[in-house]
Amino acid sequence: MSSSEKPLLSVKNLKVHFPIRGGVFLKQVGNVYAVDGVDLEIKAGETVGLVGESGCGKSTFGKALLKLIKSTDGSIEFEGQDLDSLTKASLRELRKNLQIIFQDPSESLNSRLTIEKILSEPFEIHKIGSRKERKAMVLDLLKKVGLPADSISKYPHEFSGGQKQRIGIARAISMNPKLIVCDEAVSALDVSVQSQIMNLLLDLQEELQLSYLFIAHDLTVVRHISDKVAVMYLGKIVEYTDADSIYENPMHPYTKALISAIPEPDPTKKKKRIILQGDVPSPIDPPSGCSFHTRCPYAIDKCKTETPQLKNYGAGDKEQLVSCHLAGEV
Ligand code: SF4
Repeated sequence: MSSSEKPLLSVKNLKVHFPIRGGVFLKQVGNVYAVDGVDLEIKAGETVGLVGESGCGKSTFGKALLKLIKSTDGSIEFEGQDLDSLTKASLRELRKNLQIIFQDPSESLNSRLTIEKILSEPFEIHKIGSRKERKAMVLDLLKKVGLPADSISKYPHEFSGGQKQRIGIARAISMNPKLIVCDEAVSALDVSVQSQIMNLLLDLQEELQLSYLFIAHDLTVVRHISDKVAVMYLGKIVEYTDADSIYENPMHPYTKALISAIPEPDPTKKKKRIILQGDVPSPIDPPSGCSFHTRCPYAIDKCKTETPQLKNYGAGDKEQLVSCHLAGEV
């Protein structure tokens, strides 16, 4: 995942392992390998989609980027600054640039506060503006996300799911961030509302020069918004390339299976569905070798013992990183 253009965000070998404790003395008896050595770069103005089945570690990765979860190993650089080297005060200042939109807007909005109070909070925390100025800034945010001015005095329960997500987006853009992690931000919404929110995110990206890490389990949603797509399986990236290549020429067997599950809108076109056997194995005891070998229809003996590395199989200038012993052959 390299490029001559300097990335806004650069993640190297990020690991998030949660200790499992047991016995009378609560000794550590194992680990949940939620994120297990991920490299990823996001450039200014770019959207990277991160997809995979639920439990694959993608949300943990998104939260670790923002330091909402402590990482076990690896580095996160934002505009060349290593987040681990920052003091608490510098990290708080830098956090203005890194925001998150959660899946369930109902849970992320305090039901006892008015929208004015909810959206004023970031300005209050960072001591920005007088009360009157903050109100004007909140009204401007509401306008940006397509909500009427009278929303300001209402409470979260007075809004629909899509409107609540607009409030979540207003809060995320309030500090003029450079990167927003959209953590399953449209997954809980109806399809028609999903596309309205996606279009809002695209408009805001253009207007505010935003970068997104767009986390989702639905590949159809990701294609609409992403420049690049990373496919994650059991805490590791197994394929990474531009959005068109992922859909038109997937190379990893897991990506192929995910793509084959997308419904074909044209009824005259036949599509062969690849059905994966079994569930995602537990991240407490991931399979040896290639962690996908227990479900892969192409697995050979080598897959059980040797872990495939991400290698570039892209033609010409195109980067298509795939971790599979049989990439290009199946
Ligand atoms: Fe399947 Fe083997 Fe490739 Fe893993 S390395 S995806 S098990 S063929």
